[in-house]
Amino acid sequence: MSGSIAARFHDGLVAQVHAVALMHEAGTLVIRAGDGAELGRWATADLFAVHGRKDELRLGANGQPTGARVVVKGREDVARVLATLPVLGQKRRQQTGREIRIAVTATVALAAVIVAYLYGVPLLAGRITGLVPPEWERNLGETVARQMEASLGDDSGFEVCDSNPDSLANRAIARFGAAALEGSGSPFELDIRVVKSEIPNAFALPGGQVFFFSALLEQAETQDEFAGVLAHEVGHVAYRHGMEQLISTAGTGALIGFILGDMTGISVAAGLGATIIDARFSRDAERQADAFAAHVAERMDFNPAGLADLINRVGADDEFARALALLSTHPLTDDRKAALDPLSQQRPTGLEPPFTTAEWNAIRSMCGMPDPKTKSK
Ligand SMILES: [Zn+2]
Repeated sequence: MSGSIAARFHDGLVAQVHAVALMHEAGTLVIRAGDGAELGRWATADLFAVHGRKDELRLGANGQPTGARVVVKGREDVARVLATLPVLGQKRRQQTGREIRIAVTATVALAAVIVAYLYGVPLLAGRITGLVPPEWERNLGETVARQMEASLGDDSGFEVCDSNPDSLANRAIARFGAAALEGSGSPFELDIRVVKSEIPNAFALPGGQVFFFSALLEQAETQDEFAGVLAHEVGHVAYRHGMEQLISTAGTGALIGFILGDMTGISVAAGLGATIIDARFSRDAERQADAFAAHVAERMDFNPAGLADLINRVGADDEFARALALLSTHPLTDDRKAALDPLSQQRPTGLEPPFTTAEWNAIRSMCGMPDPKTKSK
């Protein structure tokens, strides 16, 4: 940067904030107080950006106290700093030592985000999502899951219906998920968990985690219904809709921080956990996930009408709040209904059930619900 740029400075040790002037001198960011006293010299090679607000750039540096920050405000000043310190584009925190491949992708993602940021171009969330390294998405998904569980106000989080991954039910579900995802080119491995909840819902988080709530399983009358909704969620994973949605929700300023400095996206995800349960996927995302599920049904030879049947049944639930939950995360818009309807009309015969009878009985009873076989008639 030519000349100096006004900024704020925290040394990371005491709470005091200093108004400072930044100068760039031979690979060093010099931080000076108003009276000219030097408060710090940070090598530009050590700099990294962290999550900040919109129109603001927050910098930290390796080798400095953890909370030490220089904060530059205003679009013009941010642009000047970024123009002078291109090293920011390649530099990441040392403790997140990752491969070069990821750094390259990160730089491309970063360039896209910074351009959008500086010129106020609305972010094309879908396009940016494709640039986010899968490993980040996985970390981010884990963070979101933790936030979400914390927001439920229960320290233990969701209660998993069957914690044994080798149980008949869990193996069958994992096998189904892997087969549904196969051929989609997804870099993720699914982690499908059936958890106890009175809300009939299911959703997919970034990075391959899928939660299926016991109340929805309870409402499923056939294997095809359970498989259809599960395939729909796998579709959200395959299309990375959770990441896409997070990107549109988080906003550009947060993303710069996410991509540059805060690799696990903790600051991006913080606060989003509480809302993600209610967050809707876009209309397009729902259509894609429905089409994915229909395609999976065709490929795996089970009845595609199940998805429509279960959604319609839950949607018609007279307990409004219960119906709302499923529909709020997977909104049943008119065009979606129109696309689902032909599915429910179409009732091919001679199809293979997605699970064996023993597996389906195990799935049905994994949350302590009555085994349909032993249920008194
Ligand atoms: Zn959905």
